[in-house]
Amino acid sequence: MHIFEFIRPADPAAAIAAAAQSKTAQQGADVRFMGGGTTLIDLMKLNVETPDRVLDINRLPLDEIEVTPEGGLKIGATVRNSDLAHHPTVQKDYLVLSQAILNGASAQIRNMATVSGNLLQRTRCVYFRDTAMSCNKREPGTGCPAITGHNRTLAILGTSEQCIATNPSDMCVAMAALEATIHIQGPKGSRAVPFGDFHLLPGSTPQRETVLEPGDLITHVTLPPPVIGSKQLYLKLRDRASYEFALASAAVVLTIGSGKITRARIALGGVGTKPWRSLDAERALAGKTSNEATFRQAAEAALREAKPQSENGFKIELAKRCLTYALRTAAAS
Ligand SMILES: Cc1cc2nc3c(=O)[nH]c(=O)nc-3n(C[C@H](O)[C@H](O)[C@H](O)COP(=O)(O)OP(=O)(O)OC[C@H]3O[C@@H](n4cnc5c(N)ncnc54)[C@H](O)[C@@H]3O)c2cc1C
Ligand code: SF4
Repeated sequence: MHIFEFIRPADPAAAIAAAAQSKTAQQGADVRFMGGGTTLIDLMKLNVETPDRVLDINRLPLDEIEVTPEGGLKIGATVRNSDLAHHPTVQKDYLVLSQAILNGASAQIRNMATVSGNLLQRTRCVYFRDTAMSCNKREPGTGCPAITGHNRTLAILGTSEQCIATNPSDMCVAMAALEATIHIQGPKGSRAVPFGDFHLLPGSTPQRETVLEPGDLITHVTLPPPVIGSKQLYLKLRDRASYEFALASAAVVLTIGSGKITRARIALGGVGTKPWRSLDAERALAGKTSNEATFRQAAEAALREAKPQSENGFKIELAKRCLTYALRTAAAS
């Protein structure tokens, strides 16, 4: 493994100042923050990430979950995935988030993994994780062998000719449907980024995955006040029942009154190059009668732009069925 310096900054300002010296906050960064390390250290062992300095952020005061004055929730960056999933307010008001987190990884990994680390976890594309192979995301301009190679688990939405890697997070899918906001402190001050604007599509720069700049530290995530009476569900379909990434998943947050859907927030996982909020599905549901025909129409709308690769065409119907089933189950709950 690459030799690196391990530092424990005393406060956020010191962490930001140290990380601001990095040439980039994207793939190949020479300074990296470390939360639980379950993504970063994995990739360092594979030489996919080779930072010269690793800044352990676990001593920073970023590990609280608090109700905001507006009635929403503020979640510190280093809150562990397990603590968030089992928090009583999350289980009561943001059930879809608890379900999504508990569907990911294993209990041991969830005990280590942080919220900010989960937001920034990397693709499981096998070529990205193997330095003997070319990969536009790891080494821009070298090509994308996945397009003609092993792509069964890769994306069908948001792909480009440069990269078709799936965003693997479960937590992020729920956060997209809950319309979370990501709060960042950087060398130029603080800013808040709506969840849908945080991750970037690969386009011609797949090495650039988020809006983060050198020195940017995610400090917390906020959720808006819960929608009273909403029906929520996260459904994940995968090759085995646990400890496996999604082939397709759906996070749904529905409000139904007098048999009509008055509000719908929909996001898909396992199929997009970023956590995939589907405004098309939401439009197909809003104001409609809550029944099977409406659910299927929403699923058709969500996958209309899907582009299959040589091995993953099955994901289109799988994702449609996943969303239809999730909507039916949530509506009946
Ligand atoms: C075997 C295995 C199975 C898994 N299965 C699943 C699964 O089914 N579903 C799923 O969703 N996930 C799964 N995961 C991924 C897991 O959820 C992530 O590894 C974890 O959430 C990352 O969190 P972390 O705190 O350990 O991140 P770290 O490894 O500490 O950090 C990840 C990245 O985020 C950056 N970073 C961390 N905090 C900050 C911050 N505050 N500001 C700026 N940058 C920051 C780091 O520099 C690094 O680049 C699996 C992981 C493993 C190893
Ligand atoms: S899909 Fe993306 S991550 Fe995978 S090989 Fe192609 S460029 Fe690399």
